[in-house]
Amino acid sequence: MTEKMHSLDDFATAKLADLEKKHLRRKLADTTREGVWVERDGRRLLSFSCNDYLGLSHHPEVKNAAAAALERYGVGAGASRLVTGNHPLFAELEARLAQMKGTEAACVFGSGFLANAGIIPTLIGSDDLILLDELAHACLWAGARLTRGTVLSFRHNDVRHAEALMAEHRAGHARALIATDGVFSMDGDLAPLHALAALARRYDAWLLSDDAHGIGVVGNGRGSSFADGARADVPLQMGTLSKAIGGYGGYLCASQPVIDLIRNRARTFVYSTALPPAITAAAIAAIDIIARDPAYAALPLQKARLFTQRAGLPEAASSIVPVLIGEANAAVKASRLLEAEGFLVVAIRPPTVPAGTARLRLAFTATHPDSEVERLADLVRTRILAR
Ligand SMILES: *Cc1c(COP(=O)(O)O)cnc(C)c1O
Repeated sequence: MTEKMHSLDDFATAKLADLEKKHLRRKLADTTREGVWVERDGRRLLSFSCNDYLGLSHHPEVKNAAAAALERYGVGAGASRLVTGNHPLFAELEARLAQMKGTEAACVFGSGFLANAGIIPTLIGSDDLILLDELAHACLWAGARLTRGTVLSFRHNDVRHAEALMAEHRAGHARALIATDGVFSMDGDLAPLHALAALARRYDAWLLSDDAHGIGVVGNGRGSSFADGARADVPLQMGTLSKAIGGYGGYLCASQPVIDLIRNRARTFVYSTALPPAITAAAIAAIDIIARDPAYAALPLQKARLFTQRAGLPEAASSIVPVLIGEANAAVKASRLLEAEGFLVVAIRPPTVPAGTARLRLAFTATHPDSEVERLADLVRTRILAR
C-alpha cells in the first residue's frame, strides 16, 4: 500500500495512541442482555453495570404495550412533533409524567441528552449566568455551553460555594440558572435540592435538576425532588426514560408556560424527529407500574444498602454505589477480577470521572438476587478494598 495517510487519520491515530498510553482508550464490547444477565465473549455474567433499575425493559406489561403500539402504528414517528409526528400517545405520557412530578405540564424529547441540550439554551442566553455542580452530567455542561452565557461550577454539593458565586456574579447578569444532577450518576449521592431551591429563590435564579437516576428509584419512585418526604421546590425537573423507565427518551416537567415555550423554541425538540410510538407506549406502561407499586420501586435502594452494609461502605443513598480505586489501570484490574468471578462491573475512568478517581460503579436493580449481592460484597471487601 502506497496510499499516504490523510492528516485526518494522522490526527485520529495520534489521539488514540495518547489515550492508550494513559489507559483511557475505550472499546465497544459486544454484549447481549436479558435483564441483569449479560453475555460477553461467550460468557454469562451478572451485570451491575446497567441502569435498568427496575428491570422494566424486560417487563411483560411494558413489552406488550410496546409490541401493540408497534403493530398498530409502525416503527418510526416520521416527523418532528410540530409537523406530523405528534402522536396522541405523547399527551398521555406527558400527563403521566406531570402527575408523577407534581407539575402542570411535561414535554418529552428524543433522549435525556437532547433534553438538556434543548432546555438550557431556550431559557438562558449570552447575558446570563449558569451555576453547575462540578460533577454534573456531561449533557448539562453541553447544554450550558450552548448558551454562550457565563458558566461557573461550584464544588460538589457545596451550597455555600454556590451562594458565594451567586453573591459575586448574580448582579452582573440578567437571568440565572442553577443546574445539578438530582442523583449523581457516578457517585450515587443526592443533591441538596431544598437548600439549592432556597438559594435560587433568594437570588431569583431558576433551579434545574437532572433526575436521570432518581425517577423510579428514590422518593417512592417519584424522584429526587421527593427524596426526603417534603417536596423540594424545583421548577425544572428533567430526566430520562432510558434508565428505570426501561426504554428511551428524555423529558422536562415544569409549569405550562415553560413547557409551551420549550415546545416553541427548544431546538432539539423543534428540529428532531418525535420518539417512536412503541417506545412512548412502553414508557406509559412503565410509569403505571411504578405508580401502583412503590414497594417494587424501593427494591434497588434496598439491594444497594444490603451491599454497602456487607462491604463495609457508607450507606447507599440511591441505587448507585461507587467503589473508588484511584488510577485508571487499577480500576480496570479490579473490574477484571470481578469478571473472573462472574460479575460484570465496568470500570469508570476519566473523563467520565475526575482524574485520580477511577472507580467501579455498581448499579443495583430490583431483580438482582440477594445471594449474589452478598457474594459481590464479600469479594469487594476482601479482594478489592483490602488491597
Ligand atoms: C444518562 C444520563 C443522561 C442522558 O440521558 P439519555 O436519555 O441516556 O440521553 C442525562 N443525565 C444524567 C445524569 C444521566 O445519567
